[in-house]
Amino acid sequence: MLENSEREELNEEVRGRFGVLPSFFQTAKEAPGLTAQLWSFAKGAYLDLPLPSLFKERLFVYLSRFCEVRYCVVRHCGFLIGHGRPAGDKNAPLTSVEDALKLLKRPYPDAQALKQSINLLENLKEPLRSMPEADTELESALFNCASEIFLSPHSSEGFRYTLRKALGGKNFEYLMGYLAFIQTAHFWTLTHPELEYEEDVEALMRNHESLRKRLLEDPEAQRCEVGSKLHDELTLLRREKVEYDKLKETQRELIKTINARDEFLSIASHELRTPLSTLLMQNELLRLELQDGLDVEGIRSYLDKNEDLLLRMSNQLDQMLDIAKASSGCIELEKSKVFLGKVAKNAVDRLEMDIKKHTGTPAKLVVEKEVVGLWDESRIDQVITNLLTNAIKYGEGKPIEVKVTCEGQEALCVVKDQGRGIPSEKMMLIFDKFERAIDKNEVSGLGLGLYIANRIVIAHEGRIEVESELGKGSTFIIRLPMERCEEVS
Ligand code: ADP
Repeated sequence: MLENSEREELNEEVRGRFGVLPSFFQTAKEAPGLTAQLWSFAKGAYLDLPLPSLFKERLFVYLSRFCEVRYCVVRHCGFLIGHGRPAGDKNAPLTSVEDALKLLKRPYPDAQALKQSINLLENLKEPLRSMPEADTELESALFNCASEIFLSPHSSEGFRYTLRKALGGKNFEYLMGYLAFIQTAHFWTLTHPELEYEEDVEALMRNHESLRKRLLEDPEAQRCEVGSKLHDELTLLRREKVEYDKLKETQRELIKTINARDEFLSIASHELRTPLSTLLMQNELLRLELQDGLDVEGIRSYLDKNEDLLLRMSNQLDQMLDIAKASSGCIELEKSKVFLGKVAKNAVDRLEMDIKKHTGTPAKLVVEKEVVGLWDESRIDQVITNLLTNAIKYGEGKPIEVKVTCEGQEALCVVKDQGRGIPSEKMMLIFDKFERAIDKNEVSGLGLGLYIANRIVIAHEGRIEVESELGKGSTFIIRLPMERCEEVS
């Protein structure tokens, strides 16, 4: 606690320094020790701060214009004019009321003015050796940048950079310390509304009506408040914009998915209806031919054809069911020891008739190395069958080759055709759901086979690669982590 005598001593020191006793240092009576600390801060960051007194006082007045509580601007304008001393310096030059009014009426810089200020400061060849004279272009430029930092410290990086360059590191830090003190002073006045104007400045305002009007009714008085509110609003708006963009993106994705699903449904129903109508037609024909006394061979031929159609439909239904599993990422694997060459041979054998029908020759299967791994045999079969079916569909009747081998720790199954190839811009897309690199009227399909195949291989921690040249053919390579690789006898 400061004793009365100590408080008197402090008051004397303050009065001695300013020439008047500002009521600012008479506040916080219940915590008198704090006043002493405030005074220390004032001395360190304002009165004894090694910057020219006039520059400091003018800046205090200018920045205090933006504070809602008028105490600071009134008190410091008083110092500037000679009621008390500018920055507590008895040698500091005084300012006329007209010049003070000029400072109080300086328009707040717009974007153009700010740009000019920055250019002026940025083009200085070296940091300023001394602070500029009052009311010069250079002083305006410094005030403009300082007020931006003062009012919007969160977004003042550019201005701080410019000022640091123009002032040099030391004076820049002095200036920042000074702004901190002015902020503190404003905060103090905002939180101590009981602060009264001192008698000397009351008299000054009584004698100079235009000065009084300007000091008490400055249109810029709200800027500090408005500035921080605007900043908050802007932050909110920016956040909302980010949210909005995210929602838009999600909406775009959803629309894409819905469109793809619609298309999928129409293709799927078309794909299923075609074999179904053929099946109905076949049945109708069978009924007629039975009436005409069809023999057992004839009946068997009908049954074979129908079985083909039923198999096709059943495969398509499986694909549709798989898609749901693959999309939710839960393809369940039943792993066992699998010989890749054997699986490939089974798939090639199963499709032999179809391959021969389309290419005129069986597929060439080369098992360079027998590779063994822990995989789900039926799923790997499904993948190879899918690649083979595509090679038949898109292979333009040219020969198909299948190779099984290993590379490092990976098992490879390569399915190669010499067909239409895939446009390079579609190459990575074809593994996506419903993506096709061909018009639906040219070759029918759901655009799901590669998606599912890829999900299956990924579930095995492998990957599928594709190489293709338009008009020359495509090569699909399944790579799977393997257990071991054996020479083929
Ligand atoms: P679908 O064959 O039912 O369209 P896929 O997912 O199996 O569906 O294939 C996606 C697309 O990739 C096909 O529509 C086709 O454009 C292209 N594609 C797949 N395999 C080949 C291939 N071997 N040669 C050329 N294009 C292919």
